[in-house]
Amino acid sequence: MRGAIHRNALVLFSGGQDSTTCLAHALAQYAHVETLAFDYRQRHVVELTARMEVLAQIRATFAQWAGKLGEDHLLDLGVLGQVSETSLTRDMAFQMEQSGLPNTFVPGRNLLFLTLAASLAYRRNLDVIVTGVCETDFSGYPDCRDDTMKAMQIALSLGMDRRLLIETPLMWIDKAQTWQLAHDLGERAWVGGGDKLVDLIVQHTHTCYLGNREHRHAWGFGCGTCPACDLRAKGWLRWKR
Ligand code: ZN
Repeated sequence: MRGAIHRNALVLFSGGQDSTTCLAHALAQYAHVETLAFDYRQRHVVELTARMEVLAQIRATFAQWAGKLGEDHLLDLGVLGQVSETSLTRDMAFQMEQSGLPNTFVPGRNLLFLTLAASLAYRRNLDVIVTGVCETDFSGYPDCRDDTMKAMQIALSLGMDRRLLIETPLMWIDKAQTWQLAHDLGERAWVGGGDKLVDLIVQHTHTCYLGNREHRHAWGFGCGTCPACDLRAKGWLRWKR
């Protein structure tokens, strides 16, 4: 293995605020970046449409990133609907379960995502997987925690006999800091790019669990009341203050 310099990244890119910020981070950092999403018949399938628009907008707005942005991958994970019954894949109301986790939680979903991402990264010769998981202000999904990420990094590197890095730029920051990070990354690309990237995220990314694209708020589109909208809105307000 030649040194420890990582050059190519695969970004888990759903088309939301977090994964778009991760994509900008990867484009600022690496020579070649590919993107990956999973279609598991989620209720917010509108995200999958939004992500194509985000990619197009990034190519159009950030010329120096456009050349690094490579292939986009979409894997069909409809099988998730067969093994889980949650409010993201079925028509159920959001609520907290006895386990203390919200019923948006698909057990082990992120472990599956990372394993498939690692298989793809291996085939595509990409040595970094970038994911927007976060311990700070999310709902406490155990498969998004830092220890889980480190364990997965080791397991996948061993199991594929190739050094793989799982990078989590948002792990220890909150939603207000995520807006700031996007601004910093855009500004570093070109003067004025900070506001452009924030505008792009507000207008084109999708976070709302209910797939609502009718109501436009200062922080973007969404129903305004689901847990994802609530988190995004509060982060925006704290950042703007
Ligand atoms: Zn919502």
